[in-house]
Amino acid sequence: MRILVVEDERAIADFISRGLESEGYAVTWVADGIEGDALARTGRFDLILLDIMLPGMDGLDVLASLRRGDSSTPVILLTAKGEVSDRVTGLDAGATDYIVKPFAFAELVARIRAHLRQPGQGSATELRVGSIDMNLLKRSVSRHGREINLSAREFELLAYLMRHPGQVLSKAQLLNGVWGYDHDPETNIVGVYVAYLRRKLAIEGEPEPIETMRSVGYRLKEES
Ligand code: CA
Repeated sequence: MRILVVEDERAIADFISRGLESEGYAVTWVADGIEGDALARTGRFDLILLDIMLPGMDGLDVLASLRRGDSSTPVILLTAKGEVSDRVTGLDAGATDYIVKPFAFAELVARIRAHLRQPGQGSATELRVGSIDMNLLKRSVSRHGREINLSAREFELLAYLMRHPGQVLSKAQLLNGVWGYDHDPETNIVGVYVAYLRRKLAIEGEPEPIETMRSVGYRLKEES
């Protein structure tokens, strides 16, 4: 597996590269946005770790440039900005995920593994977030052990939320991630399906697992 690291802070780049190489990944490191853009667009990488504040070309511009030609390579943004709005900007621009500096190496590797994993491959057939359990092979869902019947689309939406527990996901990201193509930005299909999911996940006396972040998106709580 080949990973491109676009990061101008040498200490962080070294930390990431050494760690990933010890995990068996082939790492290519560049420190500026223009080189990063050129390499990203070669299509030679299985995953890209992309800093936002870069010399030459901003990480979000590198991402936009890549996404004009390639919608499938996973891109994880490395951001020093902890603001939700900045994160969501990145996700709207087509990032697969983001990680906020400083981060633990184990967390970075977990995210990388999650995004490199091909459907139907690997051992991650079960997801658990709070009181919700999902089996991706059997396509079954339960909450507090109670079986829940979901439509195919509801299942995909919940799986997407469960792969990003605790993160605010914008409507645009959910649309791209679950519906898979660009819809009319005015569509309310995400809101409609979140409402279906909430109704099916609701258990009297238990907290609501999906939070609405007004005008930003949704978040699946890690505890519910
Ligand atoms: Ca930087």
